[in-house]
Amino acid sequence: MPTATQLTERYANFLLPVLSTGAGVCEVCGTAVVGGWPRCYQCNQAHTRLDAVADTVDFVALAVKEEQLAYELWKYKGQPSAAQSEIALRLAALLWRWLTTHEACFTGAAGCERFPLVTTVPSGGGRTGEHPLEHMVGTVIPSTRDRYRPLLRPTSHGALAGRVFDAGRWIAEPLAGEPILVVDDTWTTGSHVQSAAAALKAAGAGPVAVVSIGRHFQRQPADERFRKAAEDYYRASRRQGWAWGSCRLCWRPI
Ligand SMILES: [Zn+2]
Ligand SMILES: [Zn+2]
Repeated sequence: MPTATQLTERYANFLLPVLSTGAGVCEVCGTAVVGGWPRCYQCNQAHTRLDAVADTVDFVALAVKEEQLAYELWKYKGQPSAAQSEIALRLAALLWRWLTTHEACFTGAAGCERFPLVTTVPSGGGRTGEHPLEHMVGTVIPSTRDRYRPLLRPTSHGALAGRVFDAGRWIAEPLAGEPILVVDDTWTTGSHVQSAAAALKAAGAGPVAVVSIGRHFQRQPADERFRKAAEDYYRASRRQGWAWGSCRLCWRPI
């Protein structure tokens, strides 16, 4: 049986870091922003439309559209096959290895000592049976499986909501102030997972941290105004380069 380190070595060849908060980077979701704003449009929507949002958000890496990580994050939840299960195992090893170093980063950022509960957001898209992410976090990864609890259920309203910031998309189990780690696979607009964070807080959760494996990134956005910012961001990420020892919360310039 290969170790998590062996399974994940190849990621160092192509993973790119999500940049730390700074000029041109959204302070919430780490994407490129234009016009000197601290937050991107979607994160502003989240803060305006929801009563509460995640206390901290962290990512393993950038999921650049049409590049390898984005492909793997799509493929692992596709039709069961040898290739699909190999990718699912590799992504589990990636998340496990990354959490070993960086769970302390978002624990600190969320202001708690640990996360006794770990959950995932149901897809709500009519999928039956266990979602591959639920399997990854609730069964495969040794450091999360004992803390895993499916705390959220989609409402019928939720299935129709699409990419809308709305806590009513989910019903959460009643909570008593426990800090909660929400694991997601790809962050696109954040509406899915930020709505879940709001539902968890409405149900009584303590600090909520979101960790998403990939931060969706489009190098050539349709809107011309964003193209230069996206390209600058991509280059800065390549310049910084991948390092197992740093994430957007703990990275420091050398
Ligand atoms: Zn943002
Ligand atoms: Zn870190």
